[in-house]
Amino acid sequence: MTDLSSQLDTAIAEAHLPALLMSIVHMTGDASLLTPERRPEYVFLADGKLGGYSPEVQADIRARAKVALTAYLNGTPLPPPPSPETVRRMMDWTAGADIPANYAGFLTDELQLTGVDTKAPDWSAPVLKAAAKRMKVLVIGAGMSGLLTGIRLKQAGVDFTIVDKNADAGGTWFENVYPGCRVDNPNHMYSYSFEPNHDFPQFYSTQPVLLDYFQRIAEKHKLREHIRFETTVEEAVFDEAKGVWRVTVKTADGGREVLQADAVVAAVGQLNQPRYPDIEGLETFDGPSFHSARWRKDVDLTGKTVAVIGTGASAFQFVPEIAPKVAHLDVYQRTPPWPLPGPTYHDDVPEGKKWLLEHAPFYGKWYRFWLYWMMTDGLYESVKADAGWNGPVNAVGQANAELRDMAVAALQAQVADRPDLAAKVIPNYPVGGKRALVDNGVWIKALKRDNVELHTTGIARITPTGVVTKDEVEHSADVIIYGTGFHASRFLWPMKIVGRGGVDLQTAWNGDARAYLGMTAPGFPNLFILYGPNTNIVVNGSIIFFSECSVRYVIGALKLLAETGAQTLEVKKQVHDDFNAKVDAANALMAWGSPNVNSWYKNAAGRVSQNWPFPIVEYWNATVAPNPDDFIIGARVTEPA
Ligand code: NAP
Repeated sequence: MTDLSSQLDTAIAEAHLPALLMSIVHMTGDASLLTPERRPEYVFLADGKLGGYSPEVQADIRARAKVALTAYLNGTPLPPPPSPETVRRMMDWTAGADIPANYAGFLTDELQLTGVDTKAPDWSAPVLKAAAKRMKVLVIGAGMSGLLTGIRLKQAGVDFTIVDKNADAGGTWFENVYPGCRVDNPNHMYSYSFEPNHDFPQFYSTQPVLLDYFQRIAEKHKLREHIRFETTVEEAVFDEAKGVWRVTVKTADGGREVLQADAVVAAVGQLNQPRYPDIEGLETFDGPSFHSARWRKDVDLTGKTVAVIGTGASAFQFVPEIAPKVAHLDVYQRTPPWPLPGPTYHDDVPEGKKWLLEHAPFYGKWYRFWLYWMMTDGLYESVKADAGWNGPVNAVGQANAELRDMAVAALQAQVADRPDLAAKVIPNYPVGGKRALVDNGVWIKALKRDNVELHTTGIARITPTGVVTKDEVEHSADVIIYGTGFHASRFLWPMKIVGRGGVDLQTAWNGDARAYLGMTAPGFPNLFILYGPNTNIVVNGSIIFFSECSVRYVIGALKLLAETGAQTLEVKKQVHDDFNAKVDAANALMAWGSPNVNSWYKNAAGRVSQNWPFPIVEYWNATVAPNPDDFIIGARVTEPA
């Protein structure tokens, strides 16, 4: 008993109190606990803050939790689940906000309080079972989205193969092995909704932990037997006569093979084709040089003079790691990134919190919910433009200006002793214009080191021995590292995808990729793109959420085929065009659409081709199930096998 008592004390002391309060409501059935003084304040960018509970309220919640948990762990059964009305109130009490009514369905789906994986497909009807047996799907990519597709296809009973160019599963977490690589979304949200991991050692896991998470899931769901590694898709051609896709792959031994599928799901991500900068003389450099996503572990940086080009999300993580090792580090910045405070970024999850996640009923669900609200649409309004905004151009509206003030204050506090650095690191574009980065201070600390210099003069050229800045000063380097990002807007490139009438998708897009809900394009039947055009998010949420929505929709589209006996389904051009017009109009009103900002979110045509411009609840709403009216549903041209 004493052991349990002290274990509870430790755990409760470390608890996230709003989530703990919800757990008490589940354990006691006492919704009268939802009193005004127990409703937390909404804390902007809270990162674990308690939201204004008084010390008395904190003590009260902890004391009640101990009583309820002791009873529960001693066998007291849970009362009946809270009513939907109570759950709605619990949402407000967790978030510290009046959550709009239109979020209820979305958040309930995400919360999964019933323990049912609501996004899992149900193909138990005989007609679906029979159709599933005949269907063959090819999934390209065994990263986060491809594995998820495999899980859902398996649950539906549909036959599938996943091909991946890499030697193992994990996608981005397999490829990016640079020092300091970690997720910059809290992990208790950056994980599949149906596969919580209560043992994440840190709030934001490092690359090896994430790779392990995804690979363990591949094992658990027996996906490996479906995956062909070191198999690269070169071309996918829609055979109109037969109504199937023929996909040419290059195999590990260098040979070619053609795979046939009824549907193709491209789960290749947006950020994996490294982009090297267009800098004169780049190829003349004599020493080792590499891209952050092709990290050369064989190049020992110890004691070397190293040049890092780029200060985006990747450099923000690896610069602080390599700075103490190298003799000298020159960091070349073209545009400063926006850091936003995240004090727990490198912190371990305390054991007590892990215990609660594992043992306190529904605590983990509500903690995830809280993260969802704080990190998703809770921030959305702050990166949206005010109509007719005539304030400074470094913001797009009042809320955005307030977010800017807060972010600038946090940065200024770090560089108060270095006005030279302050002038370089405070961005002059709106927050949200580019990916905001989680900041616990290590970036500025690294830049302040005696052996680190931040250059903002611009690069004139690269020579065999180093980097010449625009002021014609040569900075010698032993190694150059390019943290210069990816060919993000060249969706699906370098694969060649040929649809109806022999139309090449890249030619049709002409550098300006578009799709309906990010997934389907007219003239490309049964081709589904995950993390496709306009499904990236900047401040609101985890990309896993988007994948879960998209995959549910894709399986829904296959179900439509199965139910109707049709062979193909392709989006109507008008539906696609209308959707994209709305997306473009909305993106123009977001910080990242500001004419002041250049980023990888915009393609060569200047259109924001990456980002979802609406609250994420709208993606959820749009993807619960496909609307048959959006599609041309084609009769069978071949008999099912
Ligand atoms: P990035 O954000 O596109 O950053 C590229 C950097 O290189 C920018 O600072 C860019 O400057 C600079 N650059 C590009 N061309 C240049 C040139 N010719 N001369 C000088 N500088 C040049 O790339 P990234 O850092 O690899 O990140 C890409 C995306 O991957 C992120 O936005 C994020 O979505 C994702 N990511 C996520 C994580 C995570 O979750 N932890 C980590 C890494 C990456 P400009 O800003 O002026 O273009």
